[in-house]
Amino acid sequence: MSRTCVAGLGVSGTAVARALAGRGEPVVVVESVAGDRQREAAAELAGRGVEVRFGPLELPEGVTRLVTTGWAPHHPLVAAALAAGVEVVGEVELAWRLRPAGAAPWLALTGTNGKTTAVRMLTAILRAAGREAVAVGNVGVPVIQAVTEPYDVLAVELSSFQLHWSSSLAPHAAAILNVAPDHLDWHGSMDAYAEAKGRIYERAGTVVHNADDPEATRLAAPYPGAVGFTLGVPRPGQLGVVEDLLVDRAFVADPVEAAEELATLADVRPLAPHNVANALAAAALARSLGVPAAAVRQGLRDFTPDPHRLAHVERIGEVDYVDDSKATNPHAAAAALSAYRSIVWIAGGQLKGADVDDLVRRAAPRLRGVVLLGADRARIAEALARHAPNVPVVDISGQDTGTMNRVVSEAARLASPGDTVLLSPAGASLDMFAGYPARGEAFARAVRELKAAP
Ligand code: ADP
Repeated sequence: MSRTCVAGLGVSGTAVARALAGRGEPVVVVESVAGDRQREAAAELAGRGVEVRFGPLELPEGVTRLVTTGWAPHHPLVAAALAAGVEVVGEVELAWRLRPAGAAPWLALTGTNGKTTAVRMLTAILRAAGREAVAVGNVGVPVIQAVTEPYDVLAVELSSFQLHWSSSLAPHAAAILNVAPDHLDWHGSMDAYAEAKGRIYERAGTVVHNADDPEATRLAAPYPGAVGFTLGVPRPGQLGVVEDLLVDRAFVADPVEAAEELATLADVRPLAPHNVANALAAAALARSLGVPAAAVRQGLRDFTPDPHRLAHVERIGEVDYVDDSKATNPHAAAAALSAYRSIVWIAGGQLKGADVDDLVRRAAPRLRGVVLLGADRARIAEALARHAPNVPVVDISGQDTGTMNRVVSEAARLASPGDTVLLSPAGASLDMFAGYPARGEAFARAVRELKAAP
């Protein structure tokens, strides 16, 4: 009998297995790690008639479809399925196919950076408008779990991995926030990465793009009526900024004559140019569903930023310490570096094949000092030697728990009153930490210890 194989017992994989079993479809899950969490999930699924195979990841016999949450095409299990002519689909694609008739519309967004921030802003705006909305997808809750629940609208955050494995999504509206090099090791090339992001538009009712981002604009170009957003003054058909106001010249009765005021810059927190862009993207998606301007403003005020994204930790002796550990690629770090004037920058980690030359060149005039840690720090040091030869650089080797304390004390030594010590690493954290939250927490702890020190 034909059956579906689910790759892994992660949160999404487990949700997929549950959903298929609930429909009476035969399912087998393969999982290589047999820890407590996996055993618990397997026991629960067994009660629903799902077979779980622990051990080497091999494609079970009789499988006609493989569901992956975002595994790379070159992963041996996925490659084996593709070679055998087995259909490979993503969890999000399956969720789209299985959603019931009359299910909630999707407002979808993707981008190299800002997805979680924008999707949370969008959810807050929709809720302020009285809609039952939930943030799903890459942000945490599997889409397949939410599609059968009675929401009015889903705010769907999509990664390039999820889009790679999607082929028929038709969101009510879809936005691309920005496209910059990241995950090139997964996708193989910048073209393939951008192509994956562009898939979000293929069947979207309304196409929304960052008009200040060349790649997002290029991806939106084939779609007539695409709505742009800009940090500049908006043209008819765009959202943008006029003095200290966020304004809409797209979703209004007469875009040539009229502009509607949505919010003020002070409603955007933390106030930095990239967050204004995120707010405009969220506003555009919400407005495509007819959400009134007052709800946009209220939603932005209700929105609480997630940790490790430009989070202010402490002020010590007129120096501000800011945790932007979530900046796991150069484009995110560039946004953070452009938000401050005089910076002691803490950087390093896994660059995932991305180039830091441009980032360092642009940031150079604002840098007062740099402390480097982690795997690819030599690549950053090389770029600094080229573009900021006079900026002091301290190289911290080591993986032990005291490393971050040394990093912070060196940063404090380099900082003068008025400076910002900014952890915005431009790389992933897995070389030294369990993830970006652990890296940010280690930083915040070291800063607090520094403050408490006599
Ligand atoms: P994602 O979910 O895409 O990873 P987040 O909202 O979690 O995005 O932010 C990730 C990182 O990128 C943070 O360091 C944040 O400061 C930075 N960032 C957020 N929005 C943008 C943007 N629009 N452009 C560039 N960088 C951004």
